[in-house]
Amino acid sequence: MKVVCILGARPNFIKHYAFQKACRSKGLECIAVHTGQHSDVDMSDIFFRQLGLDPPAYLDRLERLTPARDLGRKMVFIEDAIKCESPALVVVYGDVASTRAGALAASGLGVPVAHVEAGVRAGNMSNPEELNRRIAELCAHTLFPNIESARSNLLAEGFPEDDIFLTGDIMMDSLLAVRNAHGIEPSNGDYVLVTLHRAENTDDPTRLSAICETLMAGSRNIRFPVHPRTRAALECTDLWGRLLACGHIDLMPPQGYVETVRLIAGAERVLSDSGGVRREAYIFGKPVVSLIELIWVPEMIEAGWEFVAGADTERIRYGLETFTPPPGRPDIFGDGGAAHRMVDILLERYGGEAKRQYGS
Ligand code: UDP
Repeated sequence: MKVVCILGARPNFIKHYAFQKACRSKGLECIAVHTGQHSDVDMSDIFFRQLGLDPPAYLDRLERLTPARDLGRKMVFIEDAIKCESPALVVVYGDVASTRAGALAASGLGVPVAHVEAGVRAGNMSNPEELNRRIAELCAHTLFPNIESARSNLLAEGFPEDDIFLTGDIMMDSLLAVRNAHGIEPSNGDYVLVTLHRAENTDDPTRLSAICETLMAGSRNIRFPVHPRTRAALECTDLWGRLLACGHIDLMPPQGYVETVRLIAGAERVLSDSGGVRREAYIFGKPVVSLIELIWVPEMIEAGWEFVAGADTERIRYGLETFTPPPGRPDIFGDGGAAHRMVDILLERYGGEAKRQYGS
């Protein structure tokens, strides 16, 4: 059976690592179609190299386009690849623009779509990721929520129960695989890890400045791998120069996945607006301070391990210095076997289908 997997941005590559491994072990042919949404060495190539991903069979190049033209270009690129490959189904990951484009292109051709990480909701339709995710789900025939609350959301929204499969979080699969392959063990380091890249923070000078000023005013050692979008926003102000000059803040380029897993494992706590980094920090038992009000995993907050600071100075300070989770940390993200479960389900649902031709 042949599956086309749509890749575009950093978190897709990391999820694809576990999926590709599971496909290989079960004899599923897995074709990567990369829209070039993230395309430079730090944000794309390094993940293919470090994680041993097959090079994309189709690779588009990044261009600055208006939103509609960008979506259209991605859809046409993906449509052409699907028509060439005639897969049994198309797999889309998470919530990036390429996820939406992939799901729309495949469903337009009548090819079944499986959405990995379905049902996660922050209930905020002005968040671009929420829109991407919801659109992908409307096109999907198989939905793989990563956590219980995501499964409940899908059921409450009327998605058919027979199409919903709670498999665990594929990000946990990738995290555990890299931890084991590189002998990385969580330890209690003397630094705080910070990541920041959501448009809500980078494109709002007031929020960006409030977060950075609070980090600079504190005294905690901070390691801060800087996303290209964040760097561009910081360089438009004096914040970039001041952060560079700040003795207790170590600004780093975007890191490879192995380095990032090491950084999370060694941190004392993690401050982030990333969906993935916050989950990984929880899995490694690090107090998580959210730099965005979007709550994607209510289970982490209910467990007392995530504190939502947003861009509020007082709350960030509390999160940085004082926030302490209770003892006991429930398993939220499964057992690291999500990708294998997904592949088994896909083989059962689509394995019998003959090779088909799509479109004209
Ligand atoms: N990550 C990475 N290098 C970095 C920062 C993050 O490899 O410098 C990894 C991180 O461990 C997680 C994923 O990228 O697995 C999260 O991606 P990102 O924060 O870009 O997106 P989000 O999860 O918010 O969608």
